[in-house]
Amino acid sequence: MILFGYRQTVKELARLMAQCRNCGMQGWQVVFRVLTWFTLFFIPVLPLWISRKVQCGTCGTVQKLSKADADAMIAHAGAHH
Ligand SMILES: [Zn+2]
Repeated sequence: MILFGYRQTVKELARLMAQCRNCGMQGWQVVFRVLTWFTLFFIPVLPLWISRKVQCGTCGTVQKLSKADADAMIAHAGAHH
């Protein structure tokens, strides 16, 4: 019997002070990547798709980002370090 399924892993990419698109507050915005894996016997073997999201530290809203938007926010976060 073959056991297969899906698993998601989340990795934080950047954290920056910016205005939230949802609540309009200036606060911490956390950019993260969600990777969905195909798993065999509970072991991730194949990454299926990647999505990028941002979560507002003030209101907690999670919004989807395009790759370009995510890259721009990561670059912006990096500029302060
Ligand atoms: Zn917000």
